[in-house]
Amino acid sequence: MQYIAVHHVGVELRQGDELTAEEVIWRIADYHVSKESFPGIGYTFFVSREGYIYQCHELDSMTYGVASRNHEVLSICLEGSFMEHPPNAEQLASTTWLLSYLRELAPKAEVKGHRELALPDYPTACPGDAFDLATLL
Ligand SMILES: [Zn+2]
Repeated sequence: MQYIAVHHVGVELRQGDELTAEEVIWRIADYHVSKESFPGIGYTFFVSREGYIYQCHELDSMTYGVASRNHEVLSICLEGSFMEHPPNAEQLASTTWLLSYLRELAPKAEVKGHRELALPDYPTACPGDAFDLATLL
């Protein structure tokens, strides 16, 4: 991996406790497979709003997180939408831990927001205007 891309879901799938984090992940996976025709969920890791880290694919499996750049990118998605507010403290702490773990495995990998890696044909606001990645590093 040359890059670690940070994503948000972009919508709040859980308003209260009606869904578990696992159910949220399955809904995203179902959307990626049925609507986007990806072979599986588009992220290697998912960080729930509780700060739990879920590994969704093997580290060396290509996923579909950043269009046309997936051969060089590992994707981490944080639950929620960060257009109006940043991730919570639990998510930030867990994501910081995950990034330090991944940088031990791939010291040269650069951490970027999805929008910084997106090619011009695939513009995105992901991971959200209120999410300053410097809070992770
Ligand atoms: Zn994204």
